[in-house]
This record gives sequence, C-alpha cells and structure tokens, in this order.
Amino acid sequence: MEHRTIKQQEEALAAEPAEPPGSGRAPDSTSTIPQPSLPPTTEPTPAPPQARTPRPALWADVPDEQWDDWRWQLAHRLNSVEELAQLIHLTPEEIEGLTAENKFRVDITPYFASLIDPDDPRCPIRRQVIPLGRELQAFEGMMEDSLAEDKHSPVPGLVHRYPDRVLMLVTTQCASYCRYCTRSRIVGNPGANFSRAEFELQLDYLRRTPQVRDVLLSGGDPLTLAPKTLEYILSSLRAIEHIEIIRIGSRVPVFLPQRITDEFVDMLKQYHPLWMNIHVNHPKEITPELSRALDKLAFAGVPLGNQSVLLAGINDSVNIQRELVHKLVRNRVRPYYLYQCDLVKGAGHFRTTIAKGIEIIEGLRGHTSGYAIPTYVVDAPGGGGKIPVMPQYLISQAPGRVVLRNYEGYITTYDEPLDYDPHAIDHLDRQAAERLEPGQVGVAGLLTGKIPFIKPEGFDEIHRRNGIQHRLNNSEAKWQRFHMDGAPSDPSAVPPASPGSNGANGTRAANGRKQPNGHARKKPNGSSKTTPPAGSNE
Ligand code: SF4
Repeated sequence: MEHRTIKQQEEALAAEPAEPPGSGRAPDSTSTIPQPSLPPTTEPTPAPPQARTPRPALWADVPDEQWDDWRWQLAHRLNSVEELAQLIHLTPEEIEGLTAENKFRVDITPYFASLIDPDDPRCPIRRQVIPLGRELQAFEGMMEDSLAEDKHSPVPGLVHRYPDRVLMLVTTQCASYCRYCTRSRIVGNPGANFSRAEFELQLDYLRRTPQVRDVLLSGGDPLTLAPKTLEYILSSLRAIEHIEIIRIGSRVPVFLPQRITDEFVDMLKQYHPLWMNIHVNHPKEITPELSRALDKLAFAGVPLGNQSVLLAGINDSVNIQRELVHKLVRNRVRPYYLYQCDLVKGAGHFRTTIAKGIEIIEGLRGHTSGYAIPTYVVDAPGGGGKIPVMPQYLISQAPGRVVLRNYEGYITTYDEPLDYDPHAIDHLDRQAAERLEPGQVGVAGLLTGKIPFIKPEGFDEIHRRNGIQHRLNNSEAKWQRFHMDGAPSDPSAVPPASPGSNGANGTRAANGRKQPNGHARKKPNGSSKTTPPAGSNE
C-alpha cells in the first residue's frame, strides 16, 4: 500500500483534476451527458497553503523557512520577563515566578509560545511553561527525587527498577521546560548533563545485563541531542542482542514539531523496533504542526503513545480529557498513561486528589473506545514504580459467581465454570520460555506459589521481641510449607528480610521446586533463557 504524508496528500489533491460540483466523479469525455462548462485551466491549481497555527504579531515578519527551522526555534526561545512581556500580559504572580531566585529553568520555543492566549492567565498552555510565584512553596510530602530514581541507578542516569526494562537518561536538556517536571532536580541544568563516559557506563551495564529487553530513552528530552549523539546511542543499543525494543519518551513533537523532519525520521527508522511516547496534556497542544510531525513518525513505522500528567486547572476535567484522547487517536496516538502528579518540588499547586483521576477514568471507560483510555497511574513515591488506579467494577463474589457492574451502573453476574482446570495448560506452559525475576516476583509470585509471603523489612526481628531460643521456636521445620507434589520444602528459598529486602527473594517455581537465581527454567524441548539478576556480571 502506498503511504503518503499529509503534505504529499495535500499536493496530490491539489494536482488532481477538478471535479464538477456534485458529480462525485471525474468528467468523462466520452459521456453523452452534457457537462457544465468549466473555467479554462491554463495554470495548475496552486497547492493549498499548509495549515498553520496563527503567528503572533511579534513574529509576523519571520520568514516561514526560519520559523520552520528547529534550530531557529531553539535559538529564539523566550525566558525573561522582558521577552515574554512582548507577547503576553504577564500577571504580578507570573512576574514573581519569572524573577524568583533558584527557580526551575524557563525556556519556551516561539512556536509553543504562539499557542498561549496572551490575555488569559488561566490558559492551559501558559500554565504549563510560565512559572507562578507559588511554584516555590513547599508542601507536605514534597521530595527532590520523589521516585527515588537516583537511588535505583546502578550507574549514573540508568534507572533499573523493573525486571526486564530500564530507563536511560541521556540528557538534561529539553526544548521547553514544564513547570511540574518530575526530574527538575537535574533537568534544565547543563552542568548536570551526562558525559560520553557516562553513556559508556550505561551501555556497558546493558551489555552485561541480559535480563534487560526494553530500553526507554528519556531525560530531559532525547530528541534535543545532537543528531550524531542520538544515532550513536541508538546504534549502540541495537548492537546489543538481548535488547528487543527501544522506546523514546519525548515532548519535542509538542514543543518543537519542526524537529521532526523527513531526514530525522529516516534516521529513526533504521533502528526499529522503535516506539515513541509523546507528552500532550491538553487538546490545545494538538495543532496542525504537531499533526504533521506525528504523521511523519507514524509513516516511518514508529508506534505512538501519549503520556499526560493530571494537572489542576489544566486538564482535571472529564470533558477536557475526552477531547484530548479523541484528538490523540485521530492522530494515530494511543493514550498510554495518565499520571498522578508527583510529589516533586515545584509541582505542589498542580496536584489533584487521586479521586479526581478515578472520576476521569469513570467518565471515559464505556463512554468512549477502550482504545482511547489511558491507564491512570500513581508513580509510587520512594520508587515502587507505577501503580494503576481505577474505579471498582467487581462488586462482590462467591464460589462460582462474580458480581460486576458496568459504566452505566448495570449490575450483572458472571457464572464461573465449576470444572475449570488451571493445569490443563501446563504442557504448553512448559514449552514457553519463563523469564525469572529474582527478588521481584511480587504478588504474582504469591499466586503462583513461587514465594509464600512478602514481609516488611525487620518483620522477624520485631516478632522475636529480643526473646530467647526455646523448645517451641527452635525448629524451622514447623514453618515449612507442605507441597502435594512432594517437592522438598526449603525455607532457605525465602531468605529472612534483610535491610532493603522485601523478603521475596525466593525462587520457588510454581510446582514448588526451587530454581537457581538468575536462570530460566529449562524447558523440555531443551530451550532455556538465562536472565541473571540485576547487576549480575553474567
Ligand atoms: S519535557 Fe519532560 S523532562 Fe523536559 S521539562 Fe517537560 S516533563 Fe521535564
């Protein structure tokens, strides 16, 4: 199938012969039906101008070639009261925010600034990039690194939180700066940027950690890197055999759609499978310029998702979220996550209750296509990762029957099979590769029997109460679990909680047999996968 960009489609449409109004088909010279006379067409029909966001008077004289050049956009970013006052009527609180000491970096591309309503202090574009005085107010629970990313980095800039994937921070620079940025502790600071030596440390960690199959490039914004640097990182990752997919998280298509050139997407598509998550918070950010950038990425075969942050006064409304997700899917972007705003310095006044997020999902689920509904998540303070939160649809249950409700309040029952055999799949399951997740099997591990419990740190010590070893507590055998298949019960499979451990390091397989840490279960067909624990030198 031939794929054409919007621009090519516009040009092709313009080049097609005009049809008589209402005919629904091209004129047929062999037709005997009299045709209405057409004006002479000595000149080809000019291509319609590309749809553009209206440009403020401040930049009316800038030639299109400059305006459309991403380098020009970056070089002419606005960041001071004087520059911004030429464009918008700043409020006293905005002036306070812009002149504050120790504020998070301000820089706004002329393109993104052109989306701001100059007369509306509540403009959702403006609120995202222009600081307010209250931004520096401390709040209960605030942290510098609320997701403990730096704590969970085996090497600088590489966060390895989940079993099979990592976050690779490759720059601290962005095209413009969001006031609620989760990584404001480093983002915007050129002095905190990552060196070539640190890239090498990140890549070296990945080469020796075969359990990682998915790398997310973020920052800062990876699309602000020099093209050669970004290509070096992409090609180095592609050379690592066990890395299956590369993802890029970027707000550049939104702040600087001019960066998504044909040449740039030609480079990206050499490194497939490559996915991209953009970051749009409000429907007003979806302009003709962004649509064209997304069109290029989609035609280059890059699957697109969107991550947005739930922000008070910007998008904490069911109607705004519905309009946003509908506009996204029209642009072939799948709404992926809706984040609860993090407990991060500077973001206090953007935070909503979690109840608001649940209300938004309630207002979307069933009311629009499932395809358009993001997963609402709270990124766990302290570094637990994303926790999905949603309305409760399962109302009650009894053996053999579950009571559920739908979005309309319709309540129904689902009769469960009484003869369901969960082990009928076992022979096929044994043929599928199992990826072990040492120390991270979690609640799924409790269900499969890999671990018998998850204990808080210090649990056993607290319950010993500094007591003595006596006749009733001196045998570990009484706490060993019985297994019907006769597999030996070995409490050493679950080591006692140690500092930093959740006590869930056991690697007992679903059948109760102990598995060595760092190795996949050997399949009967001889296949096996080796997945050493994080940080292993294997
Ligand atoms: S684009 Fe992302 S990394 Fe950059 S300031 Fe915005 S939220 Fe932070």
